[in-house]
Amino acid sequence: MAAPMTFREKLNGPWHERALQAFLVIIIAHWAEHVAQAYQVYVLGWAPHQAGGVLGQAFPWLVHSEVLHYGYALVMLAGIWAMLPGFVGRSRTWWLVALVIQFWHHIEHALLQAQAIAGHPFFGRPVPTSILQLWLPRLELHLFYNTVVFIPMMVGMYYHLFPSAPEASGMRCSCAWHSAPTTA
Ligand SMILES: [Zn+2]
Repeated sequence: MAAPMTFREKLNGPWHERALQAFLVIIIAHWAEHVAQAYQVYVLGWAPHQAGGVLGQAFPWLVHSEVLHYGYALVMLAGIWAMLPGFVGRSRTWWLVALVIQFWHHIEHALLQAQAIAGHPFFGRPVPTSILQLWLPRLELHLFYNTVVFIPMMVGMYYHLFPSAPEASGMRCSCAWHSAPTTA
């Protein structure tokens, strides 16, 4: 009799498809907020501090709470890491790229969070500032970060949904849109 599956084995096996779908809904909603914020600034001409995306208009504290930004970055990092074993072949390579970029994005948020806890910004700036923010404004930088994490995730997802036959034979989940050719 086989040993009972661990949580992470289930997550990368029978639960992979559902978990990825739920993860994607959250990611797209969050990303849409960043796009909405850019729209408010560039098209509507709002001041960046006032531009809170869609939810931020009703709940400004959502956008101005550093701990929520940090928490989201951490959840993203944990989610990408937790679902990595389910990806094989080319999809794994792209998912790993997303993991590495999100790791750095998360470090940037940790740095912002540290400034919020310390009660004063670093680098002699008037507001909490991350490393790449020394060269790019925060709105553009995080639109960029969310985009460069999203793209390799989408490519990885594509190869995960449409695997080659050898890749499909290594998969333990139900994500592939076609089943591997039977060898029987
Ligand atoms: Zn899968």
